[in-house]
Amino acid sequence: MGDGPVDPRRRVPRTDTLLADPVLATAAVALGREQVKAIVSHAQGRARRGELNPDEVRDAAVAALPTPGPRVVLNATGVVLHTNLGRAPLSSAAVAAVVAAAGHTDVELDLVTGRRARRGRGALDALAAAVPDAGAVHVVNNGAAALVLAATAMAAGREIVVSRGELVEIGDGFRLPDLLESTGARLREVGTTNRTTLADYAAALGPETGFVLKVHPSNFRVTGFTSAVGVRQLATLGVPVVADIGSGLLGADPLLADEPDAASTLRAGAALVTASGDKLLGGPQAGLLLGDVEVIERLRRHPLARALRVDKLTLAALAATLHQPDTPTRAALHTDPGALRERVERLRDRLGADGRKAEVVPAVAVVGGGGAPGVELDSWALSLPERYAVPLRTGDPPVLGRVVRGRLLLDLRCVPADADEAVREAVLRVPGED
Ligand SMILES: *Cc1c(COP(=O)(O)O)cnc(C)c1O
Repeated sequence: MGDGPVDPRRRVPRTDTLLADPVLATAAVALGREQVKAIVSHAQGRARRGELNPDEVRDAAVAALPTPGPRVVLNATGVVLHTNLGRAPLSSAAVAAVVAAAGHTDVELDLVTGRRARRGRGALDALAAAVPDAGAVHVVNNGAAALVLAATAMAAGREIVVSRGELVEIGDGFRLPDLLESTGARLREVGTTNRTTLADYAAALGPETGFVLKVHPSNFRVTGFTSAVGVRQLATLGVPVVADIGSGLLGADPLLADEPDAASTLRAGAALVTASGDKLLGGPQAGLLLGDVEVIERLRRHPLARALRVDKLTLAALAATLHQPDTPTRAALHTDPGALRERVERLRDRLGADGRKAEVVPAVAVVGGGGAPGVELDSWALSLPERYAVPLRTGDPPVLGRVVRGRLLLDLRCVPADADEAVREAVLRVPGED
């Protein structure tokens, strides 16, 4: 070092500065501040003893964090519910509820009587209150589990009548027909891929019928010469109708006019509605079951229900999400494009000041994750040379964008507004000039 003897101890980054680093701050939430502080002090100590350069302290602390579970990433893909990124991010109310529920809880105990109580009644009561059209409700591990429970309890050894236009693959090679048949129920397929009529269903009904299943085509669209039968008509057939709405929308949302919601589907006559908790509801992974009292009671008492039981953390997050439905998912869906544009322009300007040439471009965001396949959300993205894609994805925190025609697009719609600075720093960490 040419500028004379500078005491390296004076240049060791301060604890506050280090704990404000996005990665260390996130770790402090996950692991507790004390544990991360101990890791930080250890790295500072090494720098004071001359074992590390002061500018290596942060990286050493990050490297010393315990083996992480899933890593926190910044979702700049413009896909609101990205299955590979864990679908819905929890609201801060739900996060606080999860943290609070991590110790001993009264999840299955009535504190007044001192006796066992219905597990997770806080979440169940909140779900029932959110959808008064449901006679009763139950919660299992995910949407697939909800369907498996319904098929097992209501149709094992018998038939599930379903349209050939609704035999859906939900992703990663998992297909609903296989899932349903794994329960011992038989599928009675009716109609064709593009057209199924009420008469097709009626002709298939008989003593073997367990229920008629209506599956929402949540991740694709069939257009052209098509016809399908709605729940209202199916409910006239005199057998129970189970509707898999997928998305978890509890009430109608004008932005998502083609998405069925639980309340309307029950009013149309479904005996049972199944849905996911981590799609449009914006909550934890869960399978929601809403329907007639006798149906829900039968599912709840079925031996398989015990194997699909949800964790107290999920119940805590679900209850909080239902009490405060202003989730990050809802915010991302309803963000004003003008405000997004301003954020992207500010980011571009600040990067420009540091010599990085980025552009502001209009983009189209989508709901994703098995929801609203036809809906396009006007959005804005920061456009960078494609060479940024890999270093940003493998950086810390990872920033995920979308490569379109040789450019990396970072759509800020699903990036929390207070993370724009983290995006800027991540871009600046990518070496090189533009
Ligand atoms: C997403 C989806 C499922 C599967 O739900 P998971 O919660 O992912 O298990 C089933 N059916 C439909 C229509 C869906 O959209």
